[in-house]
Amino acid sequence: MSIETLFAPVTDLKGVGTKTAADLASLGIYSIYDLLYYFPFRYDELQTLPLDQIMDGQKVLLKGIVATEPFVSRFGYKKSRLSFKMRIDHDVIMVNFFNQPWLKNKLEIGNEVAIYGKYNVARQSLSGFKFVAEKQNESGMAPVYPVNKHIRQKKLVDLINQAIDEFLSDVEDIVPANIREKYRLLSDQEIIQKMHHPQNGNEAEFAKRSAIFREFFIFQIQLALLMQNDQAQNNGEAKKYDLNEITKLTSSLPFELSHDQKSAVNEIFVDLHSNRQMRRLLQGDVGSGKTVVAVYAIYAAVTAGYQVALMVPTEILATQHFNKIDHLLRKFGVRVALLTGSTKTLERKEIYRELTDGTINVVIGTHALIQKNVIFKKLGLVIIDEQHRFGVGQRQALINKGKCPDILAMTATPIPRTLALTVYGDMNISEIRHLPAGRKPIISSWKTSSQMDQVYELMHQQLAAGFQIYAVTPLISESETLDLKNAEELYAKLSHDFPKQKVVLLHGQMPAAKKDEIMTEFAAGEINILVTTSVIEVGVDVPNANMMIIYNADRFGLSQLHQLRGRIGRGQTQSYCVFLADPKTESGKARMKIIAETGDGFKLAEEDLKMRGEGDLFGKAQSGLPEFRVGNVVNNYNTLVVAQKVAKKLVAENNSLSNYPVLKEVLEYNQLKQNRV
Ligand code: ADP
Ligand code: MG
Repeated sequence: MSIETLFAPVTDLKGVGTKTAADLASLGIYSIYDLLYYFPFRYDELQTLPLDQIMDGQKVLLKGIVATEPFVSRFGYKKSRLSFKMRIDHDVIMVNFFNQPWLKNKLEIGNEVAIYGKYNVARQSLSGFKFVAEKQNESGMAPVYPVNKHIRQKKLVDLINQAIDEFLSDVEDIVPANIREKYRLLSDQEIIQKMHHPQNGNEAEFAKRSAIFREFFIFQIQLALLMQNDQAQNNGEAKKYDLNEITKLTSSLPFELSHDQKSAVNEIFVDLHSNRQMRRLLQGDVGSGKTVVAVYAIYAAVTAGYQVALMVPTEILATQHFNKIDHLLRKFGVRVALLTGSTKTLERKEIYRELTDGTINVVIGTHALIQKNVIFKKLGLVIIDEQHRFGVGQRQALINKGKCPDILAMTATPIPRTLALTVYGDMNISEIRHLPAGRKPIISSWKTSSQMDQVYELMHQQLAAGFQIYAVTPLISESETLDLKNAEELYAKLSHDFPKQKVVLLHGQMPAAKKDEIMTEFAAGEINILVTTSVIEVGVDVPNANMMIIYNADRFGLSQLHQLRGRIGRGQTQSYCVFLADPKTESGKARMKIIAETGDGFKLAEEDLKMRGEGDLFGKAQSGLPEFRVGNVVNNYNTLVVAQKVAKKLVAENNSLSNYPVLKEVLEYNQLKQNRV
């Protein structure tokens, strides 16, 4: 018996077939190991009280006998109420379950049931949340797990308990004993037992502390191993770029680089010149001028005889980058090509050929760049813009097209440096903290729907002066159709309210060619008001569009709002951004105040992080931070730092991990799992 036993697929559990296995896979659970370490995100504290001691609205556990036939009434689409009477000693109360009609099958008159819910004193009724299994109500703490539409809480609870019963004794420790002792951490068996079935709140907290450390520790070991490999191999190629040529680039620019841009260029040049592979992350707010820094890197690599690939997440952005970069470098004889999903077959084949024979120096594109047919003669530099939009696998696929090419990742979603250093331990960081000189700060304001008159007044004023406006509706990722409906309604409204203006709708479901056509028209000043979903989020550059209205702004993440706002403020004139929202909560109001008052993305990120966890603010896909199951890199920052220190030391002393067989097996298992996803 050993840790390997745990890596067996979930189908090894009794009663788990391929259907359940597929459902579990949708939660990222493939093996017994995954089940055991799938921890609750909170606990319901179950307390049983005599009826006359329960306060109105209190959450309690009530045990009684089903006294009447349960009845389901349906109303509206997908809504239902299941009701029955429950006898508790000499009292009878009403129990209602909303939208869980299937529970009817489990209720029979005369059965004893335990139900957790919220009690209404006046009505003598319990609004039920769930049935409680016997196992859970022993301790009074019922675990609640993250689930989705494929699998229900109850089923998951049963499976986890089954896994614990059968396999807990096979669990081995991942964090070495001396470290656990030093930091007073629980063993893995204890962690599993106490995370799933704590006796009380304190015990849950204490177990969580160890679970977080364990999770960070594994992550930091992986980072430390990556670093080690790099340093050991010295594997890059030194690029002997031509400074004379680069001086020509400098004198051809219509502006002087800002101080931060110069430092970033210098840092990149040092990397290019060294024979170690560059791994650099360039952080800078939208509009801070990262593109031109990338152009220096590109031109340097080209003068040294290498090809460059620049990958961006959207076609619009690819086209815009292509136009800019081609314009800047063509005059020096650099061949730049654009390759996206909508590049025509003939042209595409031509590009493939010219990349292979080296005629093309620079290719800019979307993930079309990672297709098999894209073969480079000598790829020396890979640049990935909005790097967090790509999966690790996609980035690696492009990188693998070269022989240890230098890597420059760029992001407009800055995170505080201290944090970046702990979570991107394998990258060096350059920052552009200040916008280029002469830029007028955007005037931002938060308006509620009752202040719409003021907003229209400002719109009329800007339109009369010949400026263009973006009107943005939120992306509700749950439903693309709903997004579209919102945007269409707004389009109809603005067309009606501004009859003399040309109002056009741009949304994500249009074919790329249509989107490009509209953006080109907008850039040419032929559209006055552009209504969009958040398609325009990245990169688009139209200096004459100097006003933006963001509808339902409280439905966007702060960082996404900031990115959207970055579309304006690109010209010489004063820009305005209006955040429209009627937030109900205090934190919603606070968020609107902060975004209206703060224009510095780094500061905003820090504010964000202070206020809440990283996931909430950036939105999972946006954050660019690695995701952890138990830990939170912001709230548990200190633990992250300790885990990093400990992991570095361990890898430095034993980089083969030969002294840590269990850890090694877990890392291998994680790797396998990542490849599967
Ligand atoms: P980012 O990619 O960081 O969002 P861009 O590279 O698109 O920003 O730059 C935004 C705008 O600022 C571009 O129009 C660019 O030409 C201009 N710009 C860049 N650097 C400077 C500078 N040093 N001085 C003046 N304008 C600049
Ligand atoms: Mg950019």
